[in-house]
Amino acid sequence: MALIVQKYGGTSVGSVERIQAVAEKVRADHENGHRMVITVSAMSGETNRLIGLARQLNDAPALREMDVLVSTGEQVTIALLCMALQKLGMRSRSYTGGQVAIETDSAHGKARIKRIDEHRLQADLNEGVIVVVAGFQGVDEHSNITTLGRGGSDTTAVALAAALKADECQIYTDVDGVYTTDPRVVAEARRLNVITFEEMIEMASQGSKVLQIRAVEFAGKYGVPLRVKSSFVDGPGTLITLEDDEQMEKPVVSGIAFNRDEAKLTIRGIPDQPGVAAQVLGSISDANIEIDVIVQNVAKDNSASITFTVNRNDLPQAEALLRSIAAELGAEEVTADSKIAKVAIVGVGMRSHAGVAARMFECLAEEGINIQLITTSEIKIAVVIDERYLELAVRALHAKYDLERLR
Ligand code: ADP
Ligand code: ASP
Ligand code: MG
Repeated sequence: MALIVQKYGGTSVGSVERIQAVAEKVRADHENGHRMVITVSAMSGETNRLIGLARQLNDAPALREMDVLVSTGEQVTIALLCMALQKLGMRSRSYTGGQVAIETDSAHGKARIKRIDEHRLQADLNEGVIVVVAGFQGVDEHSNITTLGRGGSDTTAVALAAALKADECQIYTDVDGVYTTDPRVVAEARRLNVITFEEMIEMASQGSKVLQIRAVEFAGKYGVPLRVKSSFVDGPGTLITLEDDEQMEKPVVSGIAFNRDEAKLTIRGIPDQPGVAAQVLGSISDANIEIDVIVQNVAKDNSASITFTVNRNDLPQAEALLRSIAAELGAEEVTADSKIAKVAIVGVGMRSHAGVAARMFECLAEEGINIQLITTSEIKIAVVIDERYLELAVRALHAKYDLERLR
C-alpha cells in the first residue's frame, strides 16, 4: 500500500465537471489500495481574477492583504473536491494551509515553507480518509496567511510528500509530462520519459512553468520521487530523477526553456572603479527586486555601462531606483526595454562537449536574430533577444539540436 501525494493544477479543477473527473480518478487510486493526499490549485483564472480585483481598488495593495485575498481560490477547490469525493462514497476531509499547519516565513507573496505538522493528516490517513490540502498557502508564526509565489501549489505537494515520506509525488496538469520545450509553442516538442533534477531546475528557472522551481529544488533536496502527468489522458508522464540511467550517452541539449516576463535596464557612462557595480545593483536588490542576467562593459572613453534584467512587474520600480542612482553617479543615460525575451538551451551533456554556445549563436544568426545579452552556467546557455523573435528562435533551436527525434 503506497502513500501518494497528488497535485491537480488550475485547468484540472477548472470547472465542476473537471472537479468531478478528478474525484473519480482519486477514487480509482484509493480503491487500488493507496493512501491518498491531494493538493489543489485554484480554478483556472481565479488567482488572476482576484489580483485584478485588488488592482481596481489599490495599485499597491499591502502584501499581507493580497495573501488573504489570493489564498481564497484554493479554499474553494478543496471544499468542492471533498464534496465530489463524498458524493462518490469516499471519506475525505479538506484543510487550509493554516489548519494543517504548513508553517512558512513571513515573506508575503513568496513565502518559504519552514515546517509541516503532519500529525492531523497522518491520523486521517490511518483512518482511511482522503486528505485534501489547499495548495499555494501557509501561515507564518503569527498565524498570518502567506502564499508561496505563482505556481506554488507544486511546492505544497512536494513539501507534503517530503513531510509524510510519500512513495511518490504526482503533479497532474494539462500536458502529459515535461517536454523538450513548451508543446504549445513547438508542435514537434517531445515528451521526456525522465529528466534529471539538475536539468529540471534549470528548465524551471529559465521559464518552463510546468513545475515551480522551488518544488523541484525541494524534491531534489529531500529525495522525493516526482512525476508530471496529465489529468486528461493516461500515460507514464515524466519522472524527475537524480540520474538519467536510461541514456548511456547524454544528449548535449535536453530541452529549451524561455521566458517572456523579463525587462532590460541599462545605465551608461558611469565611473569604471571599485564599488560602482555594488552601488548600482545593491540599490535594486535592497528593494527586494530579483536581478537575473548582468553584463558590464567598458567603453573607449573608459566609462562603464551595466545592463541587467528584472521581472517585468518590477520594471517601474527598478527604473525609478536606477534613475536616482544615475543622478548620484552623474551617469550619461538610463534606458529601459520591456520588449525582450530570454531563451535557454539546457542539458547535462553540455559539460562534456565543446562548441555548444557557438552552435547556438550560429543557429540564431541563420535566422537573422540579434543577441542582446548572453549568460551561461555549466548546463545552460541563455540569450536575451527581441521578444518578436522568441517563437522563431525556440523553433529553430529545437530543430538544430534534433530534439524532435526520439533517441
Ligand atoms: P497547472 O495549472 O496544472 O499548474 P501550468 O500552466 O502551471 O499548469 O503548467 C503547465 C503548462 O506548462 C503547460 O500547459 C505548458 O504550456 C507549459 N510548459 C512550459 N514548458 C513546458 C515543458 N517543457 N513541458 C511541458 N509543459 C511546458
Ligand atoms: N493558484 C496559484 C497560481 O495561480 C498557485 C498555483 O496554481 O499553483 O499561481
Ligand atoms: Mg503550475
